[in-house]
Parts: sequence; C-alpha cells; structure tokens
Amino acid sequence: MSFGAPTSPTLAYLLLGSNLGNRAALLAAARQELATTAGDIVAQSGLYETAAWGRENQPAFLNQALAVRTWLRPEELLAACQAAEQQAGRRRVEQWGSRTLDVDILFHGRQVIESPDLTIPHPRLPERRFALVPLAEIAKALRHPQLGLTVTELLAHCPDPLPVRPWPGELGA
Ligand code: ADP
Ligand code: MG
Repeated sequence: MSFGAPTSPTLAYLLLGSNLGNRAALLAAARQELATTAGDIVAQSGLYETAAWGRENQPAFLNQALAVRTWLRPEELLAACQAAEQQAGRRRVEQWGSRTLDVDILFHGRQVIESPDLTIPHPRLPERRFALVPLAEIAKALRHPQLGLTVTELLAHCPDPLPVRPWPGELGA
C-alpha cells in the first residue's frame, strides 16, 4: 500500500485495443492523449491484428503495447485510461463487445492490486496472446511479480490458439 504522492516515476505497461472505426488512427490518437495525461511513452510495440477474443462475429482487433513512465498512482492511471476511452467515443455496451478503444493496465511497476475496480497485474494477461505478443516486443524480460515468469515465458505457456499477426498498415501519426 502506498501513501501520498509517489516520489519517483513508475514504469507502467498498457495495452491498447480497437476493433471499430479507423482502428490505427484511434490508437494513434490514444497515444497522443496518454502522452499528455499519463506520462512519457518510452517504448511502443508495433500494431498486431487478432480475431475478436471471447466473442465471435465481431471485427478483428488491432492491439499495441506501450511502456509509460508515469507519476500517476494505479487508480489515477486507470482514470487516465478511461478518459482516453471516452475521448475515443467508447460506449460501454457489453463485456468484451466491440469498442473504438480499450486501454488496459497490464503492469504498474511491481505493484500487486486487487480491488473491485482494479486488478494489477492484469488478471487475463497470461491467457491472452494478443496482449503477450506486443508486450514481448518491448518487454521480453519483464517478470510477472506474482507468477515469477518473464513475458517470454508467459508467452511460451500461453494456451490461447488465436493467431496474432503483425499489422502491415501505417502506424498513424
Ligand atoms: P475488458 O478490458 O476486460 O474488455 P472493460 O474495458 O469494459 O473490460 O473494463 C471493465 C472494468 O475493468 C473497468 O471498469 C475497470 O474498472 C476494470 N479493471 C480492472 N482491472 C483493470 C486493469 N488492470 N486495467 C483496466 N481496467 C481494469
Ligand atoms: Mg478494458
């Protein structure tokens, strides 16, 4: 548990996702927004395309992992992520439904949080290839604070059969 304002910045890892509208442009706008509200983006993966997970008959997702050097506490970072989703016009319709923008916190340093609104590390990371593949591009050796495995090792154990393909389109602004 931490009290007061942090005295040093934390490296947080985010996963951006979009499967509605101009997906690459929405991710580019989200990066710009988060660079203002969340902190410096110190690393970003390429874009990857994956069929919708959890529900069929939805458009495919584009995903991207970011490393953000942030002064925000986890709950403040979540608020910044949700503000970026709102900025992208996201409407919460159904869980795992289509969305213009989804921003999930994968890690916040080595912090472990389990509150009603926030679970960090992200609880579904080990079972989501679409999150692990972009994350591995920027943080192969990062170690999961609870599982003790690196991102590379999590990927090797990941049971998710959905292929995650590098997306050949333009990265956007
Ligand atoms: P999902 O990302 O699982 O498809 P949503 O984006 O609709 O679902 O998020 C649902 C809720 O998940 C959010 O309102 C938020 O409070 C909660 N949540 C819990 N842990 C996290 C996390 N690590 N990152 C982002 N949201 C989280
Ligand atoms: Mg989300």
